[in-house]
Amino acid sequence: MKLIKTKAELVDALADLRGHIALVPTMGALHDGHLSLVAAARADISSADDMVVASIFVNPLQFAQLGDCDDYRNYPRTLDADAQLLESAGVDIIFAPDVAEMYPQGTPEVWVRSGEMGSQLEGASRPGHFDGVATVVAKLFSLIRPNRAYFGQKDAQQLAVIKRMVHDLDLRVDIRAVPIIRGADGLAESSRNQHLGATDRQNALALSATLAALRDRRIDLEQARVELSNADAVDLDYLEVVSPETLQPITWPPTAPALALGAITVGGTRLIDNMDI
Ligand code: AMP
Repeated sequence: MKLIKTKAELVDALADLRGHIALVPTMGALHDGHLSLVAAARADISSADDMVVASIFVNPLQFAQLGDCDDYRNYPRTLDADAQLLESAGVDIIFAPDVAEMYPQGTPEVWVRSGEMGSQLEGASRPGHFDGVATVVAKLFSLIRPNRAYFGQKDAQQLAVIKRMVHDLDLRVDIRAVPIIRGADGLAESSRNQHLGATDRQNALALSATLAALRDRRIDLEQARVELSNADAVDLDYLEVVSPETLQPITWPPTAPALALGAITVGGTRLIDNMDI
């Protein structure tokens, strides 16, 4: 396995490659959710010339004030442990550039705009977030030129925006979605879970429990919002039922495949989750 920090070394390492490239983009602080993306990428390998590349980059563009915020500064950074995990998971190349390598002239002038899809739900609470995501993913696609790229269903809105970017910009990458990995208690794995104490974690389960109740039609959307806002120590940001492709709201009860997604803050940590309905 090679750990590469510069674009020049990366281009060099990929220059003579004859096989396909599978890319797993991450921000590091890896957990079982990330490793399931790597496993999916490995499972799709069809020739000894194929390669799995994982990127680790905490992208300031997708945080508030372009990274001038505590969420960005406090984001867990655990490169050594991440590199070990990725090596045992069978990754061939890790691309872990620093910010100056990715943005040598500072904030880019030209961005990818995520439009209406990126301005609702997560985008309403985090303005500009998906423009930052789309811009860095476009840069990673351009540098690594993957044939396939793997994204978690955990970030359903991100997945929808990236699929739409690939479609709208005619990017030649096959986007593959990977199901959400959860802890035994049902909480979706997230790098941010390490900020949760035991009580916070227990309280955070209200989100997955409410989504499951909606999925099983034990409650309707309005009841679900009330229950979640009344849950112990939970601050509800949103709970919506939308079309998985367009992210447009669907009236309850849905008559076609839909996605229920929600965001809460528990003990100062913002958490998102979703389930197919
Ligand atoms: P992040 O490092 O948080 O940017 O996540 C990198 C990738 O891992 C994204 O495509 C996420 O959707 C995916 N991911 C994060 N958590 C999970 C999870 N619990 N299950 C599946 N995929 C996940």
